[in-house]
Amino acid sequence: MKEKVHPKYEVGTIKCACGNEFKVRSTVGDMHVDICSNCHPFFTGKQKLIDSAGRVEKFMKKYGLSEKSKSEAKSKES
Ligand SMILES: [Zn+2]
Repeated sequence: MKEKVHPKYEVGTIKCACGNEFKVRSTVGDMHVDICSNCHPFFTGKQKLIDSAGRVEKFMKKYGLSEKSKSEAKSKES
């Protein structure tokens, strides 16, 4: 390989918001990700809100919605 034109290609640790960590070789070193193959809905088969910025929570607050109030509303209907 030609010298001095290639960035360092080293092992870095990828940390996921779910707590999963794995090592991968990259040129940028350590990284932080919101979702990984361990917690992505495609692999888990579970519905998951990817809400690292708290936008869903904000929306729920704004309209007075939450998992709790949702079930309360349901029981009122019946
Ligand atoms: Zn993850």
